[in-house]
Amino acid sequence: MNKTRAPRHTKIVCTLGPASSSSEIIAKMLKAGMDIARLNLAHGTLDGHRRLISEVRLASQKVKPGIGILLDLPGSKRHAGNVQSAFGKHLEFALSQNADFIALSYISSAGEVREVSSLLKEMNADISLIAKIERAKALQESDMIIGVCDGIMVARGDLALEISIEKVPLASKRLIKAANRLGKPVITATEMLESMVRSATPTRAEAADVANAVLDGTDALMLSEETSVGNHPVEAVEMMAKIALEVESSLIPAHILDEKWQDIPPEVNDATARAACQVAYQVGARAIVAFTAGGTTALRVSKYRPAQPILAVTPSEHIMRRLSLCRGVFPIRKPDPQNLEEVFDTAGEAVLETKSARKHDLIVITAGLPLTIPGSTNLLKVHRI
Ligand code: PGA
Ligand code: MN
Repeated sequence: MNKTRAPRHTKIVCTLGPASSSSEIIAKMLKAGMDIARLNLAHGTLDGHRRLISEVRLASQKVKPGIGILLDLPGSKRHAGNVQSAFGKHLEFALSQNADFIALSYISSAGEVREVSSLLKEMNADISLIAKIERAKALQESDMIIGVCDGIMVARGDLALEISIEKVPLASKRLIKAANRLGKPVITATEMLESMVRSATPTRAEAADVANAVLDGTDALMLSEETSVGNHPVEAVEMMAKIALEVESSLIPAHILDEKWQDIPPEVNDATARAACQVAYQVGARAIVAFTAGGTTALRVSKYRPAQPILAVTPSEHIMRRLSLCRGVFPIRKPDPQNLEEVFDTAGEAVLETKSARKHDLIVITAGLPLTIPGSTNLLKVHRI
């Protein structure tokens, strides 16, 4: 029997700051499990952020490819006619740095997200928009906001100040569920391992908090002060990774598939993605290989939360980084196959290279044909390598 160990599916976002600004610490954080580096533009200088971004990219090249860069913008408003506004300056910075995600702080409506997204379209910029849910108004409108953004952050710090702290746990569960239902990535943020700012181990309550976010279905877990100004940035990442992996191994795939059976959209794309997960479970496949030129096929499979790793095969480094946020998705870069035979061969190569499976194992392959046109998921193949 194959002894490949399941990799951690829940992603880890680390906020960088003075405690994590050296190339050594960044490399250690990557090895410990950082999937996305977050730079909070509310602090520090643009020069400082520029330097950190290049450190992360350098370390990513050496240690782990496809690390995403998330720039957290303190506001979302462009003051009418004033292109010199802080927001405009931050947005330009994000584009000049080729960031993968920008997070919009303090938004209160879907309209605000739409405004930024049309602004980006005008600028011909392809960048994922993460809406931070941290205002009471945003919480009320969350379904509409989730519909127009590329992902959300449950920003529990400010949300607690707005709606009172006892309402945050249930609000957080509701938000995760709503994002999962629409297949949009969700980040759970703030104070997850707060005591690790000073202490080398977390409290029991913090360990339970991380575990619960994983059980609730979050795509990613975020570290803030723990990694930006804390005394134990590397240990905090290690601890988060350990808790997530432990909790994931307790999840029962049949229950998840049953749960996801409810409320599924009547369309080919979704049906194919879900079937891939169902078949993979039923035949004991080692991995699901998703060919994904623009990322959507991988995201659709992730929506059904298979226990197997989803190897997202894409020709683009940009799409690899964008998928860094999605639970269970492990991007790998390969040129687009030219025909069906090449699809199967490439899938085999991808699982062997990543040691996700061994020769003679079963895998499930999913893709959208024709391969050159992104957006569709309509192919399902059970394949023995
Ligand atoms: P912040 O957002 O760290 O930028 O304030 C997260 C939160 O409010 O929880
Ligand atoms: Mn906030």
